[in-house]
Amino acid sequence: MVSDLEKRYLFTPGPTPVPPEVLAASAEPMVHHRGADFRDIYARTLSRLKDVYRTESDVLLFTASGTGAMESAVANLTEAGERVAVVSHGSFGERWVSICERYGLDVHAIRYEWGESPDPDEVGAAVRESGAGIVFCQQSDTSTGVVSDVRGIREAVGDVTLVVDAISSLGAVPLETDAWGIDVVISGSQKALMSPPGLAMASVPERVLAQAKPPRTFYFDWRANKKAQDVLDAAFTPAVSLIRSLDVALGLILDDGLEAAFERHVRLGRAARAGIKAMGLELFSPDNDGAAVVTAIRAPEGIDSDQLLAHLRDKHGVTLAPGQAHLKGKIFRIGHIGWFDVFDIASALAAVELSLTELGAEIERGVAVARAFEAFESPVTA
Ligand SMILES: *Cc1c(COP(=O)(O)O)cnc(C)c1O
Repeated sequence: MVSDLEKRYLFTPGPTPVPPEVLAASAEPMVHHRGADFRDIYARTLSRLKDVYRTESDVLLFTASGTGAMESAVANLTEAGERVAVVSHGSFGERWVSICERYGLDVHAIRYEWGESPDPDEVGAAVRESGAGIVFCQQSDTSTGVVSDVRGIREAVGDVTLVVDAISSLGAVPLETDAWGIDVVISGSQKALMSPPGLAMASVPERVLAQAKPPRTFYFDWRANKKAQDVLDAAFTPAVSLIRSLDVALGLILDDGLEAAFERHVRLGRAARAGIKAMGLELFSPDNDGAAVVTAIRAPEGIDSDQLLAHLRDKHGVTLAPGQAHLKGKIFRIGHIGWFDVFDIASALAAVELSLTELGAEIERGVAVARAFEAFESPVTA
């Protein structure tokens, strides 16, 4: 086991590393959530969220993990028995399916192999055929590393309500909520927004609220939450300390600029892929600049990826993410969203290289980090 003195390295796609000033904000003295001290923080955070979302609409902020905001969309937009469509290409697509089933919906799942990218025209045709009026999908399915073309999907599905889970992609890859006409975008604090876990968001324009069904939830009632948020008087006690942190994190992201963040994520993805390939390992996630959120890698012959992750954590203090569901033991994932830089990628690669060697795998040694730096330096053209 690693001793208490040894450093821990977190290279997962959520929770992600949190900058010290963001963590420190959570340690500020408690303020009352119905007083002026909090209202300033709350107002600024909500306004910064709109900027990161690139929307003029309200972004409802909930104390919950991301799944809570996903569930809020189902509970406010649907009624039992209604036909809906889900585009599923990974474990988070299956989460949409499970939530919709739990709410008694008639779910038409448009399924792709995990690791495959959904084809917008195919999705459009399948949605029309299904007769669904609402479509749920992911921008980034973090279980596979695929970032899908939600702009293309928006164009292809026609006049239906599109709900996009951008929990791991908002702030990492371009997402133009208003310009692309995406009805509802869901996100969470602990991924590219480089904050602690515990906050979830949903952008809800007036036109979508107007179509909302009688809410099948009390806590996540969109109308009640919006009414309260509009007067900066949250419906329920919000996670005051986490909102302080999110406020600071969003400020850092916006000061640097979203375009800079998008470019950094592309280059980090390149660095991770180049290093992995140089070692002789096989990528599971797509080998293109779109895959800027998380890099998924197949474990080499004879190595169980869960065994590799246990070795990395116990022997070297390094945490990577496992494969989910049927990919358990087969793949592992290096996250690069939020507060990551190229030295994080270099450390992750070096640790994988060392651990695989210690576990007896035949890999190319001594090249991954150099190739990662080269790939990181190559210019990104828009
Ligand atoms: C992390 C994640 C979720 C789940 O978020 P929780 O905060 O764990 O509830 C949902 N969808 C995607 C794409 C994610 O990456």
